[in-house]
Amino acid sequence: MQCTLDSCPKPAEYTFVWPWGADGACCQGHVVVVQQKARALRGHFGQVSFARLNPDRPKELSRDERVELHTARLVAESERDDARKRSGELFEVNTRLANEVRTHKVRSEQLHGQTLELLQRVDALTRERDEALTLAGKRREDVEHDLMQQVEVLVSERTSELEGRLRLCDDGRLAALREVEAANRALADYRSRDTPAPTVGPDGPHVVE
Ligand SMILES: [Zn+2]
Repeated sequence: MQCTLDSCPKPAEYTFVWPWGADGACCQGHVVVVQQKARALRGHFGQVSFARLNPDRPKELSRDERVELHTARLVAESERDDARKRSGELFEVNTRLANEVRTHKVRSEQLHGQTLELLQRVDALTRERDEALTLAGKRREDVEHDLMQQVEVLVSERTSELEGRLRLCDDGRLAALREVEAANRALADYRSRDTPAPTVGPDGPHVVE
């Protein structure tokens, strides 16, 4: 900032504000001028306030220092350009990786969904198998029960039939025994009547009356 008074070319060292609000900046030399004006105006308007500008402002640089700074700036700019380029590359890599991550995530979710579906199917098939096994067991019991009933009926029928036949045989035997007894009795009667024994003639055995 330059001194704003009388086209002064020196750098400003103070800023000041007139009582009516206008402000300016002045060099060390022009401070006196401003203070004189302020004293003249004090009775009418009030005080001028000063503030020291850049109290620790560095000295002018030497030529070598400027060259050094310029070189450093060029180097810094070159490094900045490199960094920007590298940043662009990294941005592209990051974008690509983010896309890959998205793709993998989608694929992972799909696989997760398929896994859940398969697990549900396994559960359903297991239930079906258990039901089928239960049903098969019950069927087998039913069939065994039916078979046992049929066997019992057959055995019962066969037993009745055999018992009937046995009765018939017993009856026949009894009848035969009775016939034998009757024959024996007839033979005994015959013998007791003292009849002549049958003789054997030329025509075979015959009883003489
Ligand atoms: Zn000045």
